[in-house]
Amino acid sequence: MSNYSIETKCVQGGYTAGNGEPRQIPIIQSTTFKYATSEDMGKLFDLEAEGYFYSRLQNPTCDTVARKICELEGGTAAMLTSSGQAASFYAVFNIASCGDHVVSSSSIYGGTFNLFAVTMKRMGIDFTFVSPDCSEEELNAAFRPNTKAVFGETIANPALTVLDIEKFANAAHAHGVPLIVDNTFATPVNCRPFEWGADIVTHSTTKYMDGHAASLGGCIVDHGVFDWTKYPDKFPGLCTPDESYHGVTYTERFGLEGAFITKATAQLMRDFGSMQSPQNAFLLNMGLESLHVRMQRHCENGLAVAKFLQDHDLVTYVNYCDLEGDPYHDLAVKYLPNGSCGVVSFGVKGGRKAAEAFMKQMRLGAIETHVADARTCCLHPASATHRQMSDAEMEACGVKPDLIRYSCGIENAQDLINDLAQALESIRDFK
Ligand SMILES: *Cc1c(COP(=O)(O)O)cnc(C)c1O
Repeated sequence: MSNYSIETKCVQGGYTAGNGEPRQIPIIQSTTFKYATSEDMGKLFDLEAEGYFYSRLQNPTCDTVARKICELEGGTAAMLTSSGQAASFYAVFNIASCGDHVVSSSSIYGGTFNLFAVTMKRMGIDFTFVSPDCSEEELNAAFRPNTKAVFGETIANPALTVLDIEKFANAAHAHGVPLIVDNTFATPVNCRPFEWGADIVTHSTTKYMDGHAASLGGCIVDHGVFDWTKYPDKFPGLCTPDESYHGVTYTERFGLEGAFITKATAQLMRDFGSMQSPQNAFLLNMGLESLHVRMQRHCENGLAVAKFLQDHDLVTYVNYCDLEGDPYHDLAVKYLPNGSCGVVSFGVKGGRKAAEAFMKQMRLGAIETHVADARTCCLHPASATHRQMSDAEMEACGVKPDLIRYSCGIENAQDLINDLAQALESIRDFK
């Protein structure tokens, strides 16, 4: 599939039907797999032969869909996980453990921030958060001798900042560690972080990839280029024998192309079991088949809505990197030349109370914590996800009390604009 364009990979990647085989990917709904001899099975357990034995570790349907996402991102190996949270956790924990340190952009998904700053910190892993807009000097100063990775989001949820992937990749590589990029909002249709130096890509496939609010999932893809063996002291888990797996050394046995994902499967899936179900993988693949078509419409609608809001007298600000004049427009031109995503955020005159009143008037845009769905949805963080925080605390994490996050679906753009227009009119005389 590597010679085909992204659109063709979305539709046909990952699976080729043989003669008389199903055209659609089969759902292998089986926890277990049968073998003729104990020796056959033993080879699988020793990672000497390829094959399936238990769906907590690997399942053919999940592998088929992981292969498609791997092709879309241009990687060498990939695995599905039960959620985006599991993907972020595995990607970092696969190379960082107690006593280690990770540099992360501060502009990341709230769930990921909590995972890093609270839960993984309790596991003894320290994080330094840097602004995505920091200078190279500030970025370099964040590294320590025990730093094991750098993490950022292509387009951050919900702040909608754009990551300067090359800047972060260069700093990571200068310090001998990989850059992990959460590419959920851009999707590989609009940005392929490996082309800019990223080493590992993660996804919440729950968002645009599934695209229909049908199934939760995540994915990790490895570019297969970062040379762990140059830094064996930093990455002993990849470069020295794994005693919990009969002394296999992942980089020796599976090469740079396969070491990272094989280790994450053999150790982390084995022990934590955040597997995606084959049913969900099937639904995810249905979403992937139209990802390129949907992303184009999400972006068209996003730009049309952002322009309408920008010109509206009751709208105080609009965040959307495809708008000229947006602080991230230059980075968007470089990294997202075909468009960013369908998520727009904005503020309304009258502050928090006006935003609450506005939300009540929305008809097409449903109030949900979800984003990146074929159906338009919106959220007022100050009265939902961030309601326990004071205005000052919200400001500190980049969320203003009047901020509304609006995730454009793939409906008709004028219908969305009309809906926004009537909801805005309803707060014109808001006091
Ligand atoms: C939603 C989201 C996640 C978490 O994914 P889940 O599938 O909900 O676990 C991680 N990163 C980003 C950018 C997200 O939008």
